[in-house]
Amino acid sequence: MLQSWFRDSPGPAAALFAMSLLPGTHLRRRLRRIVARFRRAIRALRSRASRDPSSQVLHVKECPICGGPGAFEYENGLSLLSRCRECDHVYARDLPSDKALTALYGDLGYWEKDRCHQGITTIQEGKGWEGYLNARIGILQRLGLLDHRSNRATSVFEIGCAEGMLLHELGKRGIEASGCEMNVVVAKEGIRQLGASILTVPFEKIELPPRHFDLVMSFHTLEHMRFPIEVFRKAADILREEGAMLVEVPCGEEEYDNTDHLHFFCDKSLRLLLDRFFISTEIVNNFYTNSAGVRIGSIYGFGRGVRSEEAVHVAARSRP
Ligand SMILES: [Zn+2]
Repeated sequence: MLQSWFRDSPGPAAALFAMSLLPGTHLRRRLRRIVARFRRAIRALRSRASRDPSSQVLHVKECPICGGPGAFEYENGLSLLSRCRECDHVYARDLPSDKALTALYGDLGYWEKDRCHQGITTIQEGKGWEGYLNARIGILQRLGLLDHRSNRATSVFEIGCAEGMLLHELGKRGIEASGCEMNVVVAKEGIRQLGASILTVPFEKIELPPRHFDLVMSFHTLEHMRFPIEVFRKAADILREEGAMLVEVPCGEEEYDNTDHLHFFCDKSLRLLLDRFFISTEIVNNFYTNSAGVRIGSIYGFGRGVRSEEAVHVAARSRP
Protein backbone atom coordinates (compact mmCIF):
# COMPACT_ATOMS: atom_id res chain seq x y z
CA MET A 1 0.00 0.00 0.00
CA LEU A 2 2.83 2.34 0.92
CA GLN A 3 4.41 1.47 -2.41
CA SER A 4 1.27 2.43 -4.41
CA TRP A 5 1.02 5.68 -2.45
CA PHE A 6 4.51 6.63 -3.48
CA ARG A 7 3.73 5.73 -7.08
CA ASP A 8 0.48 7.72 -7.24
CA SER A 9 1.60 10.87 -5.49
CA PRO A 10 5.31 10.65 -4.74
CA GLY A 11 5.79 14.27 -3.60
CA PRO A 12 3.25 14.54 -0.76
CA ALA A 13 3.58 10.87 0.22
CA ALA A 14 7.33 11.17 0.59
CA ALA A 15 6.87 14.31 2.64
CA LEU A 16 4.34 12.56 4.87
CA PHE A 17 6.62 9.62 5.37
CA ALA A 18 9.48 11.93 6.33
CA MET A 19 7.28 13.92 8.73
CA SER A 20 5.93 10.76 10.36
CA LEU A 21 9.40 10.18 11.72
CA LEU A 22 9.19 13.48 13.61
CA PRO A 23 7.37 13.95 16.91
CA GLY A 24 4.04 15.84 17.12
CA THR A 25 0.70 14.17 16.29
CA HIS A 26 -0.95 17.50 15.45
CA LEU A 27 1.55 18.22 12.70
CA ARG A 28 1.22 14.69 11.28
CA ARG A 29 -2.61 14.94 11.14
CA ARG A 30 -2.44 18.28 9.38
CA LEU A 31 -0.02 16.91 6.83
CA ARG A 32 -2.26 13.88 6.22
CA ARG A 33 -5.20 16.21 5.48
CA ILE A 34 -3.07 18.14 2.96
CA VAL A 35 -2.04 14.88 1.26
CA ALA A 36 -5.66 13.63 1.14
CA ARG A 37 -6.83 16.92 -0.40
CA PHE A 38 -4.04 16.71 -3.01
CA ARG A 39 -4.97 13.15 -3.97
CA ARG A 40 -8.69 14.05 -4.23
CA ALA A 41 -7.80 16.88 -6.61
CA ILE A 42 -5.72 14.52 -8.79
CA ARG A 43 -8.55 11.96 -8.90
CA ALA A 44 -11.09 14.65 -9.87
CA LEU A 45 -8.84 15.86 -12.69
CA ARG A 46 -8.34 12.32 -14.00
CA SER A 47 -12.04 11.50 -13.98
CA ARG A 48 -12.93 14.81 -15.67
CA ALA A 49 -10.47 14.06 -18.50
CA SER A 50 -11.87 10.55 -19.02
CA ARG A 51 -15.45 11.88 -19.08
CA ASP A 52 -14.78 14.25 -22.00
CA PRO A 53 -16.09 12.16 -24.94
CA SER A 54 -14.52 14.43 -27.55
CA SER A 55 -11.00 13.47 -26.43
CA GLN A 56 -11.49 9.72 -26.22
CA VAL A 57 -10.12 7.21 -28.70
CA LEU A 58 -12.69 4.51 -29.41
CA HIS A 59 -11.71 0.86 -29.52
CA VAL A 60 -13.55 -1.37 -32.00
CA LYS A 61 -14.09 -4.93 -30.78
CA GLU A 62 -16.19 -6.45 -33.56
CA CYS A 63 -16.81 -5.92 -37.28
CA PRO A 64 -18.52 -2.54 -37.73
CA ILE A 65 -20.46 -3.91 -40.74
CA CYS A 66 -21.75 -7.34 -39.65
CA GLY A 67 -20.70 -7.68 -35.99
CA GLY A 68 -18.56 -10.74 -36.75
CA PRO A 69 -15.23 -11.55 -35.07
CA GLY A 70 -12.02 -10.08 -36.50
CA ALA A 71 -8.42 -11.24 -36.85
CA PHE A 72 -5.20 -9.25 -37.17
CA GLU A 73 -4.62 -8.08 -40.74
CA TYR A 74 -2.05 -5.26 -40.70
CA GLU A 75 -0.56 -2.50 -38.56
CA ASN A 76 -0.29 0.99 -40.03
CA GLY A 77 1.12 4.14 -38.43
CA LEU A 78 -2.03 4.80 -36.42
CA SER A 79 -3.82 1.57 -35.60
CA LEU A 80 -3.95 -2.17 -35.88
CA LEU A 81 -6.29 -3.27 -38.67
CA SER A 82 -8.56 -6.29 -38.33
CA ARG A 83 -10.20 -8.38 -41.04
CA CYS A 84 -13.70 -9.66 -40.32
CA ARG A 85 -13.79 -13.47 -40.51
CA GLU A 86 -17.33 -13.32 -41.88
CA CYS A 87 -17.59 -10.46 -44.37
CA ASP A 88 -13.87 -9.68 -45.04
CA HIS A 89 -14.29 -6.03 -44.08
CA VAL A 90 -10.97 -4.57 -42.89
CA TYR A 91 -11.20 -1.87 -40.23
CA ALA A 92 -9.09 0.20 -37.86
CA ARG A 93 -9.33 -1.04 -34.29
CA ASP A 94 -8.70 2.46 -32.87
CA LEU A 95 -10.96 5.26 -34.05
CA PRO A 96 -9.91 8.89 -33.62
CA SER A 97 -11.75 11.22 -31.25
CA ASP A 98 -13.98 14.10 -32.41
CA LYS A 99 -11.13 16.48 -31.59
CA ALA A 100 -8.59 14.52 -33.62
CA LEU A 101 -10.93 14.38 -36.64
CA THR A 102 -11.60 18.11 -36.50
CA ALA A 103 -7.86 18.79 -36.34
CA LEU A 104 -7.17 16.44 -39.29
CA TYR A 105 -9.69 18.07 -41.62
CA GLY A 106 -9.32 21.59 -40.30
CA ASP A 107 -7.60 23.55 -43.07
CA LEU A 108 -7.05 23.86 -46.82
CA GLY A 109 -3.91 21.69 -46.64
CA TYR A 110 -5.86 18.43 -46.72
CA TRP A 111 -7.97 19.57 -49.69
CA GLU A 112 -4.89 20.77 -51.62
CA LYS A 113 -3.07 17.47 -51.09
CA ASP A 114 -6.12 15.40 -52.07
CA ARG A 115 -7.13 17.43 -55.14
CA CYS A 116 -3.52 17.83 -56.31
CA HIS A 117 -3.42 14.03 -56.82
CA GLN A 118 -6.26 14.55 -59.27
CA GLY A 119 -4.56 17.41 -61.10
CA ILE A 120 -6.78 20.10 -59.54
CA THR A 121 -5.15 23.23 -58.16
CA THR A 122 -7.98 25.76 -57.79
CA ILE A 123 -11.58 25.87 -56.62
CA GLN A 124 -12.51 27.98 -59.65
CA GLU A 125 -14.20 26.12 -62.53
CA GLY A 126 -11.82 25.09 -65.28
CA LYS A 127 -10.18 22.35 -67.31
CA GLY A 128 -8.49 20.82 -64.25
CA TRP A 129 -11.90 19.64 -63.03
CA GLU A 130 -12.84 17.73 -66.20
CA GLY A 131 -11.62 14.28 -65.13
CA TYR A 132 -13.12 14.66 -61.66
CA LEU A 133 -16.53 15.74 -62.93
CA ASN A 134 -16.62 13.30 -65.86
CA ALA A 135 -16.10 10.34 -63.50
CA ARG A 136 -18.90 11.42 -61.16
CA ILE A 137 -21.39 12.58 -63.78
CA GLY A 138 -20.54 9.41 -65.77
CA ILE A 139 -21.56 6.99 -63.00
CA LEU A 140 -24.69 9.03 -62.22
CA GLN A 141 -25.68 8.81 -65.89
CA ARG A 142 -24.83 5.12 -66.10
CA LEU A 143 -27.19 4.43 -63.21
CA GLY A 144 -29.90 6.46 -64.91
CA LEU A 145 -29.97 9.07 -62.17
CA LEU A 146 -29.66 12.10 -64.41
CA ASP A 147 -31.44 11.23 -67.62
CA HIS A 148 -34.06 8.48 -67.33
CA ARG A 149 -37.36 10.18 -66.66
CA SER A 150 -38.57 7.64 -64.08
CA ASN A 151 -35.32 7.50 -62.07
CA ARG A 152 -34.17 11.06 -62.51
CA ALA A 153 -33.01 12.60 -59.24
CA THR A 154 -34.27 16.10 -58.64
CA SER A 155 -33.17 16.45 -55.03
CA VAL A 156 -29.65 15.32 -54.12
CA PHE A 157 -27.55 15.38 -50.96
CA GLU A 158 -23.79 14.74 -50.96
CA ILE A 159 -21.97 13.54 -47.83
CA GLY A 160 -18.44 14.98 -47.75
CA CYS A 161 -18.87 17.37 -50.68
CA ALA A 162 -15.60 19.29 -50.02
CA GLU A 163 -15.72 22.54 -52.05
CA GLY A 164 -19.02 21.51 -53.71
CA MET A 165 -17.93 21.41 -57.37
CA LEU A 166 -20.22 18.43 -58.10
CA LEU A 167 -23.15 20.17 -56.38
CA HIS A 168 -22.42 23.24 -58.50
CA GLU A 169 -22.42 21.11 -61.69
CA LEU A 170 -25.70 19.38 -60.75
CA GLY A 171 -27.23 22.76 -59.90
CA LYS A 172 -26.50 23.90 -63.46
CA ARG A 173 -28.54 20.88 -64.65
CA GLY A 174 -31.57 22.04 -62.65
CA ILE A 175 -31.12 19.66 -59.74
CA GLU A 176 -31.64 20.81 -56.14
CA ALA A 177 -28.19 19.83 -54.81
CA SER A 178 -26.81 20.37 -51.33
CA GLY A 179 -24.23 18.69 -49.16
CA CYS A 180 -22.19 18.68 -45.99
CA GLU A 181 -18.49 19.03 -45.34
CA MET A 182 -16.77 18.90 -41.97
CA ASN A 183 -13.75 20.83 -43.26
CA VAL A 184 -15.17 24.29 -42.57
CA VAL A 185 -12.38 26.19 -44.37
CA VAL A 186 -12.86 24.24 -47.64
CA ALA A 187 -16.66 24.44 -47.40
CA LYS A 188 -16.60 28.21 -46.88
CA GLU A 189 -14.38 28.65 -49.95
CA GLY A 190 -16.85 26.56 -51.99
CA ILE A 191 -19.79 28.62 -50.74
CA ARG A 192 -17.93 31.86 -51.54
CA GLN A 193 -16.46 30.92 -54.92
CA LEU A 194 -19.10 28.54 -56.33
CA GLY A 195 -22.21 29.52 -54.41
CA ALA A 196 -22.58 25.86 -53.42
CA SER A 197 -25.13 24.91 -50.76
CA ILE A 198 -22.98 23.34 -48.05
CA LEU A 199 -23.63 22.67 -44.37
CA THR A 200 -20.50 22.59 -42.21
CA VAL A 201 -21.76 20.07 -39.67
CA PRO A 202 -20.77 16.36 -39.69
CA PHE A 203 -23.48 14.32 -41.46
CA GLU A 204 -24.33 12.35 -38.32
CA LYS A 205 -25.22 15.58 -36.49
CA ILE A 206 -27.16 17.53 -39.14
CA GLU A 207 -30.90 17.96 -38.93
CA LEU A 208 -32.30 17.18 -42.40
CA PRO A 209 -35.90 16.71 -43.52
CA PRO A 210 -36.95 13.03 -43.43
CA ARG A 211 -38.11 11.30 -46.67
CA HIS A 212 -37.01 14.28 -48.75
CA PHE A 213 -34.16 13.35 -51.13
CA ASP A 214 -34.12 11.27 -54.32
CA LEU A 215 -30.42 10.54 -54.02
CA VAL A 216 -27.79 10.54 -51.27
CA MET A 217 -24.28 10.21 -52.68
CA SER A 218 -20.79 10.09 -51.27
CA PHE A 219 -17.45 9.77 -53.06
CA HIS A 220 -14.31 8.71 -51.21
CA THR A 221 -15.75 9.76 -47.86
CA LEU A 222 -17.35 6.70 -46.22
CA GLU A 223 -13.92 5.14 -45.54
CA HIS A 224 -13.06 8.17 -43.38
CA MET A 225 -16.22 7.99 -41.27
CA ARG A 226 -16.22 6.13 -37.99
CA PHE A 227 -19.67 4.54 -38.02
CA PRO A 228 -20.80 3.46 -41.53
CA ILE A 229 -24.02 1.83 -40.33
CA GLU A 230 -25.13 5.07 -38.68
CA VAL A 231 -24.32 6.94 -41.91
CA PHE A 232 -26.50 4.53 -43.92
CA ARG A 233 -29.28 4.62 -41.33
CA LYS A 234 -29.43 8.40 -41.56
CA ALA A 235 -29.22 8.36 -45.37
CA ALA A 236 -32.13 5.88 -45.48
CA ASP A 237 -34.08 8.17 -43.19
CA ILE A 238 -33.73 11.29 -45.38
CA LEU A 239 -34.41 9.43 -48.65
CA ARG A 240 -37.82 9.04 -50.25
CA GLU A 241 -39.11 5.47 -50.26
CA GLU A 242 -38.00 4.90 -53.86
CA GLY A 243 -34.79 6.91 -53.34
CA ALA A 244 -31.23 5.78 -54.12
CA MET A 245 -27.81 5.85 -52.53
CA LEU A 246 -24.48 5.85 -54.33
CA VAL A 247 -21.12 5.55 -52.58
CA GLU A 248 -17.63 5.23 -53.97
CA VAL A 249 -14.84 3.85 -51.79
CA PRO A 250 -11.24 2.95 -52.59
CA CYS A 251 -10.22 -0.70 -52.42
CA GLY A 252 -7.05 -2.76 -52.32
CA GLU A 253 -4.38 -3.61 -49.76
CA GLU A 254 -2.19 -0.72 -50.95
CA GLU A 255 -4.63 1.53 -49.08
CA TYR A 256 -3.72 0.03 -45.69
CA ASP A 257 -1.01 2.60 -44.97
CA ASN A 258 -3.42 5.49 -45.44
CA THR A 259 -4.06 6.29 -41.79
CA ASP A 260 -6.93 8.67 -42.66
CA HIS A 261 -8.94 5.62 -43.75
CA LEU A 262 -10.76 3.79 -40.97
CA HIS A 263 -12.50 1.27 -43.26
CA PHE A 264 -11.21 -0.79 -46.17
CA PHE A 265 -14.25 -2.08 -48.00
CA CYS A 266 -14.40 -5.03 -50.37
CA ASP A 267 -17.28 -5.98 -52.70
CA LYS A 268 -18.71 -8.29 -50.06
CA SER A 269 -18.73 -5.89 -47.11
CA LEU A 270 -20.06 -2.95 -49.15
CA ARG A 271 -22.78 -5.17 -50.61
CA LEU A 272 -23.74 -6.34 -47.14
CA LEU A 273 -24.07 -2.76 -45.91
CA LEU A 274 -26.21 -1.80 -48.92
CA ASP A 275 -28.41 -4.92 -48.65
CA ARG A 276 -29.24 -4.06 -45.06
CA PHE A 277 -30.88 -0.77 -46.03
CA PHE A 278 -31.91 -1.10 -49.71
CA ILE A 279 -34.13 -3.46 -51.65
CA SER A 280 -32.06 -3.68 -54.83
CA THR A 281 -28.29 -3.23 -54.79
CA GLU A 282 -25.41 -3.26 -57.21
CA ILE A 283 -21.61 -3.22 -56.99
CA VAL A 284 -19.59 -1.71 -59.83
CA ASN A 285 -15.82 -2.16 -59.87
CA ASN A 286 -13.92 0.84 -61.11
CA PHE A 287 -10.42 2.22 -61.41
CA TYR A 288 -8.96 5.60 -62.11
CA THR A 289 -5.49 6.92 -62.79
CA ASN A 290 -4.28 9.77 -60.61
CA SER A 291 -2.10 12.70 -61.77
CA ALA A 292 1.07 10.66 -61.03
CA GLY A 293 -0.15 7.95 -63.43
CA VAL A 294 -0.88 5.47 -60.64
CA ARG A 295 -3.87 3.20 -61.25
CA ILE A 296 -6.16 3.20 -58.22
CA GLY A 297 -9.01 0.77 -57.71
CA SER A 298 -12.36 1.78 -56.30
CA ILE A 299 -15.83 0.30 -55.83
CA TYR A 300 -19.18 1.94 -56.45
CA GLY A 301 -22.01 0.68 -54.31
CA PHE A 302 -25.56 1.50 -55.37
CA GLY A 303 -28.80 0.85 -53.57
CA ARG A 304 -32.36 1.72 -54.54
CA GLY A 305 -35.66 1.44 -52.66
CA VAL A 306 -35.36 2.06 -48.92
CA ARG A 307 -36.23 -0.94 -46.74
CA SER A 308 -38.75 -0.50 -43.94
CA GLU A 309 -37.36 -0.32 -40.39
CA GLU A 310 -38.51 -3.89 -39.63
CA ALA A 311 -36.79 -5.19 -42.78
CA VAL A 312 -33.56 -3.39 -41.75
CA HIS A 313 -33.83 -5.08 -38.36
CA VAL A 314 -34.24 -8.54 -39.93
CA ALA A 315 -31.35 -7.93 -42.36
CA ALA A 316 -29.12 -6.90 -39.44
CA ARG A 317 -29.77 -10.22 -37.65
CA SER A 318 -28.85 -12.38 -40.65
CA ARG A 319 -25.08 -12.66 -40.90
CA PRO A 320 -23.39 -13.25 -44.31
ZN1 LIG B 1 -18.03 -8.36 -41.00
